[in-house]
Amino acid sequence: MSEHRASPYEDAKKQLKEAQKILGFTDAEYEMLAAARRELSVSIPFRRDDGSEEVLHGYRVQHNLTRGPAKGGIRFDTHVDIDEVRALAMWMTWKCALVGLPYGGAKGGVTIDPSKYSQAELERVTRRYTSEILPIIGPEQDVPAPDVGTNEQTMAWIMDTYSQFKGYTVPGICTGKPVSLGGSLGRAQSTSLGVVIMVEAALKQAGQSMEGVSLAVQGFGKVGRGVAHIAHERGAKIVAVSDIFGGLYNEDGIDIPALEKHVDNTGKVVEFDGAEPLDGDELLTLDVDVLVPAAVEGVLHKGNAGKVRAPIIVEGANGPTDGDADKIFEENGVTVVPDILANSGGVIVSYYEWVQGRDNFFWPLERVESEQRERMMASWEDVNRYAKEKDVTLRVAATVLAVERVLDAHKLRGLYP
Ligand code: NAD
Repeated sequence: MSEHRASPYEDAKKQLKEAQKILGFTDAEYEMLAAARRELSVSIPFRRDDGSEEVLHGYRVQHNLTRGPAKGGIRFDTHVDIDEVRALAMWMTWKCALVGLPYGGAKGGVTIDPSKYSQAELERVTRRYTSEILPIIGPEQDVPAPDVGTNEQTMAWIMDTYSQFKGYTVPGICTGKPVSLGGSLGRAQSTSLGVVIMVEAALKQAGQSMEGVSLAVQGFGKVGRGVAHIAHERGAKIVAVSDIFGGLYNEDGIDIPALEKHVDNTGKVVEFDGAEPLDGDELLTLDVDVLVPAAVEGVLHKGNAGKVRAPIIVEGANGPTDGDADKIFEENGVTVVPDILANSGGVIVSYYEWVQGRDNFFWPLERVESEQRERMMASWEDVNRYAKEKDVTLRVAATVLAVERVLDAHKLRGLYP
């Protein structure tokens, strides 16, 4: 996380305040929407491979449960703290509401550097964390998914741990599972595919197509790598990529399949023969057609936003643009496709996975992808229409539409008792 960024949760609350100004709801309603419904903080004692014991710390925050079970990923990262998890949980509530999923929002995380632990240790951490949050998760309560530092294997361990406690197999406990364990076709690439669908929609609006446009992609994990792969296949020139270790630049476009082989062998993008080294932060201010931040939050801030030259930013990551940067982009006429729309493909296909698991009937990939596309494009239209009507940014439009739906559900349900 950038040193410029005070608190992702403060930024999330400022976005909600913006929505309050437009929707005019009461301060009590603001409080209800700003505060998490439930927060669980857990200790995770586990045994290292050398026999010593260690204690890690983790969280599960359920921001809102009004429209259905909570839904949100689990992050394994050194930056995880309660502030970050609260912000990410709130953004999940808005994301699910914006794209019309019958879910509330949640997020979880463990403060850990996964690269410093063996697979066996990560399995023990995941199982112990799952057993600690077990009282508040469930297919009808709260459904985890992968995020930064976690993957299909993590979900398989969560599913198995939960199922062991129940005494029978419960595939609906999490999404993003391997296809052989009830995962959905298309889930692994769904977030990236959705980001590319949004890149294409934003380009079309600007009178351009994917063919030959230049992209810079920050982060080369599940989301960033997939964006680079799909955009490359669709004719875009990926001129720069980066990961936590550094970046790469090639003005003629990086050979993405060759880079993927290099990353599979070395675990990093750096030292790839087909491109020049690039400072990771420099990637954000390159003269490209589209910038896709797909790593972590807070990377675009008042220190660098004024130097960003891309006219279009499509947020693969959650919260990559802080409030100061948002203002600067608005002043400079930069189009920002906000995270809750741009990266919603992941939770959309997670929802399809959950539905398929409940039905025990699995869809072909074509159906998954076409339903994802249809749902995202409908939200794109809604957000753009609202932004034009009210003369607000796409982020404000998306947040207002989402908050309005949550508030409406809240009013219909009323207060208990
Ligand atoms: P990941 O762990 O698979 O990959 C993260 C990547 O970012 C890695 O390549 C890492 O090296 C890189 N990175 C971390 N810090 C960086 C920095 N300061 N500069 C450059 N690169 C850096 O995680 P992911 O699942 O790809 O998630 C990335 C972002 O997308 C997160 O904000 C996450 O919340 C969001 N997201 C993920 C999904 C999903 O389905 N995985 C869905 C919606 C949103």
